[in-house]
Amino acid sequence: MNPFAQRLGEALAQRRRDNLYRERLTLDSAQGPQVRVDGRDYLNFCSNDYLGLAAHPRVVARLRAAAGEYGVGSGASHLVCGHSAPHEELEEALADFTGRPRALLYSSGYMANTGVLTSLLRRGDHVFEDRLNHASLLDGGLFSGARFKRFAHNDVAALEAGLDAAGGPSFVVVDGVFSMDGDSAPLAALARACAAREAWLMVDDAHGFGVLGERGAGSVEVAGLDDAGVPVLMATLGKALGTAGAFVAGSQLLIEGLIQHSRNYIYTTALPPALAAASLEALALLREESWRREHLRALIARFRRGAGQLELPLMASASPIQPLLAGDAARAVALGEALRERGLLVGAIRPPTVPRGTARLRITLSAAHSEAQVDRLLDALGHCWPRR
Ligand SMILES: *Cc1c(COP(=O)(O)O)cnc(C)c1O
Repeated sequence: MNPFAQRLGEALAQRRRDNLYRERLTLDSAQGPQVRVDGRDYLNFCSNDYLGLAAHPRVVARLRAAAGEYGVGSGASHLVCGHSAPHEELEEALADFTGRPRALLYSSGYMANTGVLTSLLRRGDHVFEDRLNHASLLDGGLFSGARFKRFAHNDVAALEAGLDAAGGPSFVVVDGVFSMDGDSAPLAALARACAAREAWLMVDDAHGFGVLGERGAGSVEVAGLDDAGVPVLMATLGKALGTAGAFVAGSQLLIEGLIQHSRNYIYTTALPPALAAASLEALALLREESWRREHLRALIARFRRGAGQLELPLMASASPIQPLLAGDAARAVALGEALRERGLLVGAIRPPTVPRGTARLRITLSAAHSEAQVDRLLDALGHCWPRR
């Protein structure tokens, strides 16, 4: 047998034995609190559409109008002739909104993270990452060739000890809100630790942007950190903003350096201009409609109150990511299936996405949910979650 075919076959069989096999759902509807799968409607508690903008009529209308004007494909990379007025306008709007001198669009968060880390770091540097960082940050750190160190989750003292021992340029990377746990990084303390040692701090705020802060500017707004405290800010557009793509915001120097040297930026086709226009509309909604954040906060409180009454194993999260720890993978899958039979979709997250023994249901709330829908979720959890 061909060695690659043999290896793949064995790896797939092992995945099945370990209860780690993944299957994709196929949706026959737009993203929203209610989705259609295999002819049945489900209440959806697993998307990252935190503000309910993914199918908002204004965002859809703007996409249509911009496609009429700019067509569909961007036609080329940004540095050739794929950079158009909506891209430029979106970068300016994102820089303004985050209070940074400049912003740069990437096609996806994975591309942005690996692109930033591989272009800023080189052999001999040190990169420090929280153990629970998103896979794209871990991959970027590994790909960069820098000396790669992970520190215990949110442990600033451990990071400081590592930085003091390092010698040589050091770069620190964390999620603003951790994607599978929902808790926040101690950004103010991390920024102080980095500033005292001339280390640069990068924050991936994929899950805080649009959701946290009075204005929705995310984890750095809550911590009150400008681009001196967090020189590299990254966030994605595919979560709270409901569109697709990502951006990096920071100094003129940082952004110009990425344009010149980031291979993930240079050697790929620009996002469709109409998508940039749709993101501008979503950003306008995010800024105008603070009720979305307020309603979401109220739903989070309601869910946590109800889950506490049911004595469910809540984690320390104030974000729309509300995981319930199940332990082993088979248990998480069985709970996910029981909820599905009751008409609810909840993600069962297993290794290697999370550490072994910490498989969980990852419940995500959205401003598009109603209180009654959250109550339905609590009711179903009350029936499905085994009593102790
Ligand atoms: C989703 C996510 C990414 C990747 O962003 P994409 O645009 O989906 O590629 C990066 N970091 C974090 C923390 C994420 O949750």
